[in-house]
Amino acid sequence: MTQETETKAKAGAVIIPVTLFEQNCTLIWCEATRKAVVIDPGGDVEKIRAAIKETKVTVEKIWLTHGHIDHVGGAAELRDALKVQIEGPHIADKYLLDNVVSSGARFGMTGVRNFGPDRWLDEGEQVSIGELTFDILHCPGHSPGSVVFYNKDMRFAHVGDVLFSGSVGRTDLPGGDHATLLRSIETELLTLPDETVVYPGHGPATTVGAERRSNPFFN
Ligand SMILES: [Zn+2]
Ligand SMILES: [Zn+2]
Repeated sequence: MTQETETKAKAGAVIIPVTLFEQNCTLIWCEATRKAVVIDPGGDVEKIRAAIKETKVTVEKIWLTHGHIDHVGGAAELRDALKVQIEGPHIADKYLLDNVVSSGARFGMTGVRNFGPDRWLDEGEQVSIGELTFDILHCPGHSPGSVVFYNKDMRFAHVGDVLFSGSVGRTDLPGGDHATLLRSIETELLTLPDETVVYPGHGPATTVGAERRSNPFFN
């Protein structure tokens, strides 16, 4: 997001790698209001809170791209600590949020909780933070309830584990489906402008144009 001058003036972002999965917990804020959102607080809540303090922004929301443990493990704890609301993912991921404790146990993650969001999200809805508004794109396939947060003005999309630089989300976990994932990416993401900056849930940022040209799953 910091790659564009226009964007820089409107918003800022910091990536906080969390959990043993090096998940890109992302703090995004509106420069005009310094109001912020934490996307996918998967764990390491103290580390996330330290980043918030250092950035000197006011977090008002937590957004979740999908229900996997590395993205939601710290969500309930952070919601309580900051007294903010959780928005997302799509209700099709409810079975994952109902089983955060058992998922965490498989990876030795303790202190996590099952929870529900304050608001489920669906295709065509919008969420906002400060003066920034994001469209919700429902992109099932990696998980049935995966959503993407797309800001049209800034040409920016946070895609969770739907699309990666040079790759796509895994579909071998329960509820995953490879054909559905490819269809989601083709219809919802590759139709966005080429210059759209893409922040994935793991690994480096990319752009829609770069993935359309060189992602092996679409060539
Ligand atoms: Zn995932
Ligand atoms: Zn992940």
